Amino acid sequence: MPLRFVNLPSVDALLRAPDTEQMLEQHGRTAVTDAIRQELSDRRATKQVLGNGDDVAGILQATHERLTALATTSLRRVFNLTGTVIHTNLGRAPMAEAAVEAMQDAARFPANLEYDLKSGKRGDRDSHVEDLICRITGAEAATVVNNNAAAVLLVLSALARRKDVIVSRGELIEIGGSFRIPDIMKSAGCKLVEVGTTNRTHAADFESAISTKTALIMKVHMANYRIDGFVAEVPEPDLIGIAHKHELPCAIDLGSGTLIDFSSLGLPHEPTPQSAIANGADLVTFSGDKLLGGPQAGIICGRADQIKKLKKNPMKRALRLDKVTLAGLAATLQLYRDPDRLMNRLPVLHLLTRDVDEIRAQAARLLLAFQKHLDGLAEVTAQDCQSQIGSGSLPVDRLPSVALNITPVAGQRAKGKAVAHMAAAFRGLPIPIIGRLSDGALLLDLRCLGVDEESVLLDQLNNFAGIYDLNR
Ligand SMILES: *Cc1c(COP(=O)(O)O)cnc(C)c1O
Repeated sequence: MPLRFVNLPSVDALLRAPDTEQMLEQHGRTAVTDAIRQELSDRRATKQVLGNGDDVAGILQATHERLTALATTSLRRVFNLTGTVIHTNLGRAPMAEAAVEAMQDAARFPANLEYDLKSGKRGDRDSHVEDLICRITGAEAATVVNNNAAAVLLVLSALARRKDVIVSRGELIEIGGSFRIPDIMKSAGCKLVEVGTTNRTHAADFESAISTKTALIMKVHMANYRIDGFVAEVPEPDLIGIAHKHELPCAIDLGSGTLIDFSSLGLPHEPTPQSAIANGADLVTFSGDKLLGGPQAGIICGRADQIKKLKKNPMKRALRLDKVTLAGLAATLQLYRDPDRLMNRLPVLHLLTRDVDEIRAQAARLLLAFQKHLDGLAEVTAQDCQSQIGSGSLPVDRLPSVALNITPVAGQRAKGKAVAHMAAAFRGLPIPIIGRLSDGALLLDLRCLGVDEESVLLDQLNNFAGIYDLNR
């Protein structure tokens, strides 16, 4: 029997339907009309033509679902219970309250971004952070760009375009997300001169590689891996000494670049920009959103004449920070003026130094609720585990923590499939909960769960059974 479309209601009729009123109120006429047209057209294409008059309610329900999906932005808040504190894929450092407020103000109102309030003339956007960075690091001058990859790119192209850059072979690393030192050299138009071997590089290797074509000696902090055993590298002060002996600048890419002494907090030692500057480095680059705990940014500090070259380079204009980020970075750096209270004010440091007993108490508070909501679906226990710092910090350095271990009742599924399905259900919650898989269980490491977020987390579980369908 040939299909006929006569039973589909008209767009106008659907727009006039009483149930449409609320959708119009919420989404506006244009969006609702578009969604209705789309729905009707899909029904025609899939031949969902109804025999019994019009299915206004069904069409409107589908239209409503279309509109809701379109109104949900894809970038959303999630719970980071992976156990990796600075998780690049989950947006790295959560920011301090003072930074969030400064960013809101910068977004909402005009600001003296490039305007000197004293003279009434044009100002420099770097001025809002340069002094702070210099005071903290001891550098003569500083500038900021969009991220640390951009910082490295700017240093290379401003100082060493069409020239040689000497780097130890053991430092030709990939940071992740396709940031590889050799590739970034190429895109900056520099010629990479590798010296030494993967495990050993000596002062003489650098000395003999220096020529009239050399523009820069660079040292890259080996952030995400470590070579043990028969190893040798040239100590930073010696390397800088070699560069200066040949009247060459030395740039150090630190990556994480914490501004405080990590070992005094009971955390693994991390090199600081302060020590690199004190060793005589001409330029030091590091990230704003790793251990520093601010917004995504790349910070470059060092000698005034070198920073001046960077500021004059056209690439600086293309890589510059926007006012919202700049406001967040300035507010974050301000917090470092009061180191005693930094721990309570800077979320990254607070999360990294959380006491394991406090996390254990948190697990105990949440355990019963999880057991209740997952009754019949999974066994839930509290389990000691190890968190990671993340974002280029050594993966071998671990922080003791406590996780909720969620082991699904397999039902008709294989064990691996059941836990994958369980993890997917947690990701499907209104505020997705991201854990990590381990030994057929989903671990929710509680290190990064604020005490004030516990009730929001538990609210999510009300929807859980609906999303996780045991036997599907
Ligand atoms: C993380 C890192 C980078 C890249 O920094 P982004 O801020 O992610 O652009 C560069 N170098 C090192 C050594 C790093 O650890």
